[in-house]
Amino acid sequence: MASSTIELLKEELPVNQESLVLSEDVKTGLVLVDIVNGFCTVGSGNLAPTQPDEQISGMVDESVKLARVFCEKKWPIFAFLDSHHPDIPEPPYPPHCIAGTNESKLVPALEWLENEPNATLRCKDCIDGFLGSIEKDGSNLFIDWVRNNQIKKVYALMYVCWILCVQHCLQEIGVYLFLWRM
Ligand SMILES: [Zn+2]
Repeated sequence: MASSTIELLKEELPVNQESLVLSEDVKTGLVLVDIVNGFCTVGSGNLAPTQPDEQISGMVDESVKLARVFCEKKWPIFAFLDSHHPDIPEPPYPPHCIAGTNESKLVPALEWLENEPNATLRCKDCIDGFLGSIEKDGSNLFIDWVRNNQIKKVYALMYVCWILCVQHCLQEIGVYLFLWRM
């Protein structure tokens, strides 16, 4: 993420940035947002990069490294997968990440996460992962994940838009969100 974006964000929100210190003392969760082919793999649809992009590949590499560390420690991971019904467009975006296609799957370097017991994968059909986690009964899978794992700190690799939707909510339940510096 460009540092200027972070500066802009800091003017609007209490966003924290710090070096990554994974302490055993603070229950920490990792959130991966839309590290799917449709956004990150060259040539995988309308919103995928058309040529290799260092910022995207850097984020993917970082997410793989972190996911490995979290899995070794058996710490909780939550991965959002953008996933749309073919008949329900998401304006202003062109069709992308249609459910069941390769576009809505984790990038190849993260596919192994599907089988990790500490990882929760959630398909979402809107840009806001928080709204996309609401179940039919009104519960929220993301909030349940935070509560059930007693998470106090979340490290997130994500698109900026999602932060706006979730930052305040996490603070309300005493969880601090840390962004990855790209
Ligand atoms: Zn989408």
